[in-house]
Amino acid sequence: MIPSTGTPASAMPACAVSTTGGQALGARATLAAGDLTRGAGGGDGPGRFWCEWAWVDGGVRPGVLVEAADGLIVDVSTVDGAPAGAARLNGLVLPGMANAHSHAFHRALRGRTHDGGGTFWTWREAMYGLAERLTPEGYHRLARAVYAEMVLAGWTCVGEFHYLHHGRNGAPYDDPNAMADALREAAADAGIRLTLLDACYLAGGIDRPVEGVQRRFSDGSAAGWARRVSRLRDGPGFLAGAAIHSVRAVPRGELPAVVEAAAGRPLHVHLSEQPAENEACVAAYGVTPTRLLHDAGALGRQTTAVHATHLTSEDLDLLGGAGVTACPCPTTEADLADGIGPMRALADAGCGVALGSDQHAMIDPFAEVRGLEAGERLTSLRRGRFGPAELVAALTTGGNTALGWSGAGRIAAGAPCELVAVRLDSPRTAGCDPAQAVLAASAADVHTVIVAGRPVVTDGAHRTVDVGAELAAAIREVWAS
Ligand SMILES: [Zn+2]
Repeated sequence: MIPSTGTPASAMPACAVSTTGGQALGARATLAAGDLTRGAGGGDGPGRFWCEWAWVDGGVRPGVLVEAADGLIVDVSTVDGAPAGAARLNGLVLPGMANAHSHAFHRALRGRTHDGGGTFWTWREAMYGLAERLTPEGYHRLARAVYAEMVLAGWTCVGEFHYLHHGRNGAPYDDPNAMADALREAAADAGIRLTLLDACYLAGGIDRPVEGVQRRFSDGSAAGWARRVSRLRDGPGFLAGAAIHSVRAVPRGELPAVVEAAAGRPLHVHLSEQPAENEACVAAYGVTPTRLLHDAGALGRQTTAVHATHLTSEDLDLLGGAGVTACPCPTTEADLADGIGPMRALADAGCGVALGSDQHAMIDPFAEVRGLEAGERLTSLRRGRFGPAELVAALTTGGNTALGWSGAGRIAAGAPCELVAVRLDSPRTAGCDPAQAVLAASAADVHTVIVAGRPVVTDGAHRTVDVGAELAAAIREVWAS
């Protein structure tokens, strides 16, 4: 196996990911999800944080002391008042939240696609126009700012569903993982854990070759894709995972090779986001996308079905029976007029639930949980379809598990020390029951974020990235190119 060239250690910040070690995709890795040394991320020395309120064991407790060492929580106790030497975190402290579905470059489309109406498919043309412009250097600058925006909002882990692999004419870069490395460095810069879900993308539609910018996405075959991603290496704060872009983009005959190469790793797939995808799949193969993936062996506990919007009752049974995680992206699905998926039914059938911000029409974990519950209320005419504890679980343990970090997303001994402190005295949250504040708060209420035992956000500002300015500069640059 050939190690990733990555970036010289001397050019990396203290919390940077390693470019050595780990196991490769395609090597039938038996990587244990939840190897928490991966979550240490370079934290050093002991730390003590006293939380006014903290989310522990599925509920809220007052006066919680969290003690950490080497980036991990070593003890959690209840203490009446902040002890001397402990950092005080006012408000509600949540475990680190995991954004299970991101395409970082889509952030450059925010606030630019609302004129002229259209559909998901016309939005996709705008996205392709953006994808044509990106270079590894420009993508690093953009993703660094986007990931910093995520940390500012309380996401401490991101699953980057990555398909922009190659150069503008479709030819591989000298380092065929140059784009992946750009994302990896961007995450390290921003102080967020990253699971890189490297996507296999081979076709422009069922029985259609890639064309135009889609050539940047394709490795030609699943075997070619597997060879490239076998060069990715895990490291602290970084995990390599896999993705099937969709049943539109990976022909049926290529699916088993992707599944085999992804064994033991997170495997994500866009599933039934649009009715047209279902219709094309049934027309070509005589089965739904879910059934097609099931028959190819792609559904299991490592699998995450992103969107899962337009499903049959058999699809629900197959996904639940396999223990797949469902990952709705409510703000994106609303923005793109996708529809509302049957999330309560999927959870009841046996699916885990995670959440993602996908195309980043907004980056706000609280908006995603409210969107999940609002969709259920609007379609069922019932309230409380997902209770506050289930919503927090989707943001924390659900997302982390979907991204291969099954021990993370908890305030408990042994978990990565990731703490997200949310104001309870803002105009939005004042007067809330802390146990229900996730249904009232916004990203703007996050005042402190601790990652690997270190503060990354304090007083509502990222400590190393000027997020608004860097976003503006990176987005201006990509559209000018
Ligand atoms: Zn997506």
